[in-house]
Amino acid sequence: MPDNDHYVIIGNGPAGNHAAATLRQKDKDAKITIISDECVPYYYKPRLTDFIADELAKEDLMVKSPALKDIRIRCGQAVERIDPDSKLLFLQHMEKIEFSKLIIASGGRARVLPTMSGYAEHLKFVTSYTDVMEVKDEIRKAKDFFIFGGDLVGFKFLRMLTSMGKTVTILIYSEAFWPYHLTDDMLAQITKSLSKFNAKIIVKDDISTIDEQNGSYKVKTQNGIEKKVDMVFSFNGLSPNIEFAKGSGIDIDHGILVNEYLKTNVDSIYACGSCAQIYNPIINSYTTSIGWPNAVVQGEVAALNLLGDIKVIEFVGRKYFDLEGVKIKTTWWEEIEIDKDYNV
Ligand SMILES: Cc1cc2nc3c(=O)[nH]c(=O)nc-3n(C[C@H](O)[C@H](O)[C@H](O)COP(=O)(O)OP(=O)(O)OC[C@H]3O[C@@H](n4cnc5c(N)ncnc54)[C@H](O)[C@@H]3O)c2cc1C
Repeated sequence: MPDNDHYVIIGNGPAGNHAAATLRQKDKDAKITIISDECVPYYYKPRLTDFIADELAKEDLMVKSPALKDIRIRCGQAVERIDPDSKLLFLQHMEKIEFSKLIIASGGRARVLPTMSGYAEHLKFVTSYTDVMEVKDEIRKAKDFFIFGGDLVGFKFLRMLTSMGKTVTILIYSEAFWPYHLTDDMLAQITKSLSKFNAKIIVKDDISTIDEQNGSYKVKTQNGIEKKVDMVFSFNGLSPNIEFAKGSGIDIDHGILVNEYLKTNVDSIYACGSCAQIYNPIINSYTTSIGWPNAVVQGEVAALNLLGDIKVIEFVGRKYFDLEGVKIKTTWWEEIEIDKDYNV
């Protein structure tokens, strides 16, 4: 490899870190940089709920990663723009970074449903450590919660809140699993399964209003249900973080479009993890993938292909996810075991 080659990875999650570890394994001398807009080292996102509930210490939330030796991690630095022609990244603080090859592993941020957008200022989210640090203390003090949505993270959060003795109302949207759709049958099964958590479950309803009153919130639904709560959360899936790629010439749809080798339309740029929308030759369309195991495998495959391999991505673990007792077939979600399978 020529001296001046520089592999840059946008994203410090499992996709970015497994890409970096694979690059390092294959090339001991490469210059590799991970850039992350979060001010925290690589951590186990799936364990954030344990961290909120004080069942996991901050140091145990962090991934111990000997395979990431000699990789520069730049935390708290947001990428704002990419220029593929001059192979430059423009950071928010006006710095430019030159890359010879780039892997985009920027994950996603909370998706706000159009019907909820007028109330976004009242909504809290749990998609990252940064989100959690904004709400952790408040959650500990609060008693009554309202959850809009009901994606997998939402159900995990509901379970956590009830285990902390909180009172929870959840309005489940059939579109919360976007881009997947919950059928009536699945909604009925989920409602039955969640009933063991002693939460009030609402389906086939929608938000009417959320009014703030002296630090608490009055939530009204279209079917006339009214609740006064301390905090309102939204869990409706993720929107890929791809703003910085807009206008760059890299093809995007709701994610970064990549072929089955995870390569974008630009030769030197790959994308992986939950920001990538991957071409599936069987269905002749692009799909996004969700979940830690997919991000891990995709990071590794993107790195190998960037180095000249020709590996086709396969979705991980064709199995059933146990959604609070409901077996939902999924290719993308798994319980994470710390210090076992997912340490890089
Ligand atoms: C609370 C919670 C519980 C979960 N539980 C499970 C579970 O039990 N099982 C499971 O399989 N999955 C679970 N998930 C989902 C899983 O964590 C994700 O699928 C996985 O983290 C996606 O990995 P990723 O590398 O694609 O993206 P992420 O982990 O989201 O990482 C994206 C990275 O990109 C960075 N970034 C974004 N934009 C920019 C920018 N402009 N400039 C610089 N850096 C940027 C971010 O800071 C971050 O470092 C859970 C998620 C949450 C939030």
